[in-house]
Amino acid sequence: MNNQHLNNNKAIVVFSGGQDSTTCLFWAREHFNDVELVTFKYGQRHHREVEVAESIAKEQELKHHVLDMSLLSQLTPNALTQPEMEIEQTEESVPNTFVPARNLLFLSFAGALAYQLNAKHIITGVCETDFSGYPDCRDNFIKSMNVTLSLSMDKDFVIHTPLMWLDKKETWALSDQLGVLDYIRYNTLTCYNGVIGQGCGECPACKLRQRGLKSYLEEKGVD
Ligand SMILES: [Zn+2]
Repeated sequence: MNNQHLNNNKAIVVFSGGQDSTTCLFWAREHFNDVELVTFKYGQRHHREVEVAESIAKEQELKHHVLDMSLLSQLTPNALTQPEMEIEQTEESVPNTFVPARNLLFLSFAGALAYQLNAKHIITGVCETDFSGYPDCRDNFIKSMNVTLSLSMDKDFVIHTPLMWLDKKETWALSDQLGVLDYIRYNTLTCYNGVIGQGCGECPACKLRQRGLKSYLEEKGVD
């Protein structure tokens, strides 16, 4: 048995440099004294994604771990990792941006890192509300993963999902409450075409992000 207690003030944020995980970064800062970031490189469509994550980490003066997970793109040809593939999203099926087992692997490595750093808390921006068809973004998967990580390392980890039940509009509202709406609006990268901030406006990620922002700003009475 490993009796050493995890540091209850320390958190690892699974961080991609996008809207959701950057909101989680600021949420984590509100709740924990010691926050570190982990980014996974897996042959993303745009390596700009990793650069954006690095620059935000630097600006926010947070320790940043970048882990190579390029084996993911060896496993499956997928629209997120193969630049020549068109992104398609249909109502019925899992979209072709789905990378099988991605969150399973990411959370396993985040857990291993948390163990090394003695951090009790792991934060991920997964969300079930704007359910995009990714099974490993669902709440029951995260709960199961929390149990698995804790059992596998004999540690009481806590996985937090501050965005789980928020829609995009509410995620913007949360960033506004945290005082970082503009920071997230102009510095994060969600766009599948690699356009920082406002994005290309055409891809499914941009459409979802912009629709949420528009309805939040309308509700607030500004634009
Ligand atoms: Zn876009």
